[in-house]
Amino acid sequence: MATTRLIRVPPVEELAAGLAPLLSPASRMEVMADLSRRTTLRVGGPADVLVEVGSEPDLQAVLRFCRERDVPCRLLGRGSNLLVVDAGVRGVVLTLAGEAFTHIQREGDSIRAGAGALVRDVAAAARRAGLTGLEFLEGIPATVGGALRMNAGAHGSWTFRVVDRLRAADMAGNVFELRTANLSVRYRGCDFFTDHVALEAWFDGEPGDPEAIAALQERFRAKRRRTQPREPSAGCIFRNPDKIPAGRLIEEAGLKGLRVGGAKVSEVHANFIVNTGEATARDVLTLIEQVRERVAARAGIWLETEVEIWGD
Ligand SMILES: Cc1cc2nc3c(=O)[nH]c(=O)nc-3n(C[C@H](O)[C@H](O)[C@H](O)COP(=O)(O)OP(=O)(O)OC[C@H]3O[C@@H](n4cnc5c(N)ncnc54)[C@H](O)[C@@H]3O)c2cc1C
Repeated sequence: MATTRLIRVPPVEELAAGLAPLLSPASRMEVMADLSRRTTLRVGGPADVLVEVGSEPDLQAVLRFCRERDVPCRLLGRGSNLLVVDAGVRGVVLTLAGEAFTHIQREGDSIRAGAGALVRDVAAAARRAGLTGLEFLEGIPATVGGALRMNAGAHGSWTFRVVDRLRAADMAGNVFELRTANLSVRYRGCDFFTDHVALEAWFDGEPGDPEAIAALQERFRAKRRRTQPREPSAGCIFRNPDKIPAGRLIEEAGLKGLRVGGAKVSEVHANFIVNTGEATARDVLTLIEQVRERVAARAGIWLETEVEIWGD
């Protein structure tokens, strides 16, 4: 029989007091950190404690602290696939910051990048190095860590198609390197990272013509400008079902422009919910439910969210 174990999250002050002595000057801690400022949708409440981790030893110490006390511990990348509820989240949120996690360098025909680096900077480094195959990363507003967790992809390619080697830590802080061949990877997800932290990855390219690489990246940029809304969003809200894109189902149900409070189904791309300025997480969640129900009633398909929801 399944049992439910109640976890008592320590009060904010107790958490902060326990974490402070573990951190070197490379890291920074913030109490009741506003997560709306750190997500692209710009909604949601605070994290009890947010640590911008600046070194691997600090990361290991925080992971061990959380594990020993059963404190919920979440990784935050660029916040471009997250919907944080208005009440915020209990426990600790970690972001990987500083040179230890944002380095990008060429190694042979690969770009080696820390998990806190932005994938668009990986694409730019590949262009400068004359390496082709990584152009699709241009324009995905992700960190390397978030791209690995989500197996981010675009224009017919995806992260695990070009990453064969990475470094990671388990939630007890043990660091190791691995080949990705044995990981279970799917469309927009790699479940290994539900309980592991990505530390760095090697993105494999091939020697190519720098002008052709730059031209392809520009083509991808232009396509995004044409087909995606400018307002704050979390990208595609729903996963594409097997046979038909979610955006088409939503458009065919006549839902473009549907609004709840400050949240609106984009007129530009129906699978984007945009924040028109004053949206709350509650507005977005209500709109998600309305879209699901109306698509299910019309097409008999229950849309699953691609965006990850944080909080109760
Ligand atoms: C305008 C717009 C366009 C987009 N276009 C695309 C697109 O073309 N293709 C696409 O695939 N997605 C797209 N997205 C969605 C989003 O960019 C991707 O899902 C991206 O991979 C999320 O990365 P992130 O760094 O923002 O992660 P976050 O949103 O911060 O987090 C996402 C998940 O990754 C986990 N995570 C973050 N860092 C780590 C780490 N170091 N180790 C382990 N887990 C970690 C988080 O805990 C969370 O579970 C778009 C989003 C927006 C807003």
